[in-house]
Amino acid sequence: MTSPAQPLPSTGPGRPGRSGRPRPKRGEGQWALGYTEPLNKNEQTKKDDNPLNVRARILTIYSKRGFASIDPADLRGRFRWWGLYTQRAPGLDGGKTASLEEHELDDEFFMLRVRTDGALLGADQLRVLGGISTDFARDTADITDRQNIQYHWINIEDVPTIWERLEAVGLQTQEACGDSPRAFLGSPVAGVAADEVIDGTWALEEIKRRYIGDPAYSNLPRKFKTALTGHPSHDVAPEVNDVAFVGTVHPEHGPGFDLWVGGGLSTNPMLAQKLGVWIPLDEVPDAWEAVISVFRDYGYRRLRSRARLKFLVADWGVEKFREVLEKEFLGRTLVDCPSPPVPQLSGDHVGVHAQKDGRFYVGATPTVGRIDGRVLTRLGDLVEAHGAAGVRLTAYQKLVILGVEGDRVEALLADLETLGLSARPSNWRRSTMACTGIEFCKLAIVDTKNRATELVAELEQRFPDLDTPITVNVNGCPNACARTQVADIGLKGQLVLDDDGRQVEGFQVHLGGGLGLDPKFGRKLRAHKVTSAGLGDYVSSVVSVYLAEREEGETFAS
Ligand code: SF4
Repeated sequence: MTSPAQPLPSTGPGRPGRSGRPRPKRGEGQWALGYTEPLNKNEQTKKDDNPLNVRARILTIYSKRGFASIDPADLRGRFRWWGLYTQRAPGLDGGKTASLEEHELDDEFFMLRVRTDGALLGADQLRVLGGISTDFARDTADITDRQNIQYHWINIEDVPTIWERLEAVGLQTQEACGDSPRAFLGSPVAGVAADEVIDGTWALEEIKRRYIGDPAYSNLPRKFKTALTGHPSHDVAPEVNDVAFVGTVHPEHGPGFDLWVGGGLSTNPMLAQKLGVWIPLDEVPDAWEAVISVFRDYGYRRLRSRARLKFLVADWGVEKFREVLEKEFLGRTLVDCPSPPVPQLSGDHVGVHAQKDGRFYVGATPTVGRIDGRVLTRLGDLVEAHGAAGVRLTAYQKLVILGVEGDRVEALLADLETLGLSARPSNWRRSTMACTGIEFCKLAIVDTKNRATELVAELEQRFPDLDTPITVNVNGCPNACARTQVADIGLKGQLVLDDDGRQVEGFQVHLGGGLGLDPKFGRKLRAHKVTSAGLGDYVSSVVSVYLAEREEGETFAS
């Protein structure tokens, strides 16, 4: 496969691009069509210096000379390739700061993301993650819906020590953010679930080994999200990833993966489309490289708002995408495959489940993904004390303890409860997620984590016996990091008017979205805007109507 590492040499104005196709009337900044000159500031920053190179400057200059020494182009651009974002300065509310530029909200502290890529975290890794939280992050640690651990309050001076500790146990922050192949979502029960179609662990490890940190794939038009699962619940939200490999059984060739491309949410949500091809396990890394190469070379770089793979897939359609993938990047025709069956079960893995080896896995629920350093450290101790194999994070801000012997399950459940991690949570706690929000995120308009935590408690009181999960995804702005559009009740943070006509924190409501069995976007009803203070009453009234009027077997979204 041809894999140009940096902008392809310009083919000159008016000449056809690498593909031989005529240029489009107005360039979108697609390298493969010869548009290699940076068309915006982000593209210029990436061209000026490969963002991966900023690591050396962090180690040798910035961590020694302090925050004030950091070059703005590194601070607001390249730092992301190493999982670092400046966090929002404390005390700045969405209303007062709506007109400010993002950099005007910079604090001197950083958010730091550690990618886990669906891997099993052993006792030592958990204790290292916990120690970093306690020693350098004011005890913060969030489990994100991309299976990252996200810290806050990080000082630049501490970053080298944090990397040293992480890397000593095989963890990294490389390409956890930025226009790069971000953290992969992997099935939390890969290799152990009794009902698994195929174990994709090897493929994710191999993609990471070959391509993460490879400069050839570190300058993409924008972020590139990967998901892979061999579990029939499709437990990695494949519909909303740029590329997804979903376990399926080919009638002749056996277990492998269906390839989906072009999913993503934010302000222009699109569900991933199925290419209708079957990829065997050992060809997954090559197929992944081919898809990311299509994105790198043909992705739109002129406008950031159109620079995700979903726009290219929407413009081309799946037939053309497949043709380009096969002819220009793989050099072979892929095997046709019918789509996998739609999932009939939840993919959050909460509760106690039998593994295929006779042991058990236990899915436990922090509230909206929020834990702390003490919990992580204790989790490591529990894994060791109960002889478990380790912990995986989920795409639903939960965690799963794997490899638990049957006679240790109840004792483990009791210990988890003492850490605030329930394996038998209420349906509200189980099904509510929240993004980072205004506490730390510079793009946020409203508070999310704290408001969602209060909401869970409120709904547990009002509907203690809710007999069916109703998903509530709380987001602080239109970027939909906690998947606004695919929840039963999706909440997008914005300023709204209260009864006295004052602008206050609130949400636009999206109703009836979902993934899996019935993937669709929730309806955005103009009238359904709610103040943050009125959220509990609003959700309660919507749920009351559903419970009173539902027919046998009718879900909230149907
Ligand atoms: Fe920040 Fe908005 Fe993403 Fe929430 S949805 S984490 S507020 S960018």
